[in-house]
Amino acid sequence: MPGQVLFSSMAYARYEAGQTLPAKFERMLKASGLAEKVKGKKVAIKMHIGDGVTFSTIPPVFVRSLVKFVQDSGAECFITDHYVYRRHPERRGYTADNLGCPVLDDCGYFGKYYYTKEVDFKSFRHVDVAGLIHDADFLIDFSHVKGHGACGYGGACKNISMGCVTDRTRHEIHGLEGGLKWEADKCVHCNKCIEACNHHANRFDKDGKYQVNYHNCTMCQHCAKVCPTKAVTLDSHDYADFQQGMALCTKTVLDLFGPDNVFFINLLISITALCDCWGLTTPSLVPDIGVMASDDIVAIERASLDMIRFEDLIPQGVPKGHQMGDTGHLFQRLHGKDPYLQIKMLEDMGLGTQQYELKEIK
Ligand code: SF4
Ligand code: SF4
Repeated sequence: MPGQVLFSSMAYARYEAGQTLPAKFERMLKASGLAEKVKGKKVAIKMHIGDGVTFSTIPPVFVRSLVKFVQDSGAECFITDHYVYRRHPERRGYTADNLGCPVLDDCGYFGKYYYTKEVDFKSFRHVDVAGLIHDADFLIDFSHVKGHGACGYGGACKNISMGCVTDRTRHEIHGLEGGLKWEADKCVHCNKCIEACNHHANRFDKDGKYQVNYHNCTMCQHCAKVCPTKAVTLDSHDYADFQQGMALCTKTVLDLFGPDNVFFINLLISITALCDCWGLTTPSLVPDIGVMASDDIVAIERASLDMIRFEDLIPQGVPKGHQMGDTGHLFQRLHGKDPYLQIKMLEDMGLGTQQYELKEIK
């Protein structure tokens, strides 16, 4: 059975408020069956509140609609993310007055309220589930879709795995990043590898050790190819471990709720190169697409990625002088990591299906 994904397009036919995305979003929520699912429950709405001068996070008009819909359905809800107070959500319009419900730190004010679930994947051992997420009856994963340097794509899976957990878990997942091997005894310090990197991703530290910032690294292997002594080599496909860690973390969080108590909404507007946590907004990579909703995380992630097409690339969304790869998804050409990997991993873990059926809500 394909996963059903509701979709409302940004496209419009007339200059009418009812033709715009917030109005379509309200109609989508009514058609989604979400009202019956949340009735009488305590609902955590997980979103990314952004940081700094970000202006591409989910606009308050959509959040307010969702909160009202959930409350009108007979549920209690709160908006949540990590580091809420230090990232000043009020600067982006996320206040209780404005949204109609509290905006809370999911691990508590000091970040110390969580429940640990043990996992066993390489160095990744602890999923510290945020206390307020753990205590909720129902999770709405409300995600702004964009690119992500470490895994290519940031959507519903990223919103959970990097946002519903503690710093320790985030660090353990980031600790899985990798992909290049450097052998000190072979290196003659000719610096060719540094000169060959177009992404400012590598350097030698003060002790002369080769360091790679895997967020910026696109796995282009220029450094490995120019190295005269083969001191830098590609270490299998370890860069995929980060995605595997994200998928495992997402599964661990979602298992707390079960399939009947989760719902996913992906907003595909202001689709930028980087995650909202950077505290900045760059120009969009593609024209705004619309909004999707589903109770299948795999289906909605796959459908979202499929709609972000390289053919629609707006060149100014890419930094000047940045060299794009020539194969794969737009996010793969931009960041060097296959964004579909995390979707396949979620599917392999039994969280849904990549076969999806789009139902348009106009
Ligand atoms: S190109 Fe190879 S030998 Fe030269 S500095 Fe880089 S790692 Fe060392
Ligand atoms: S693989 Fe490419 S992007 Fe990564 S460090 Fe080497 S040259 Fe730079």
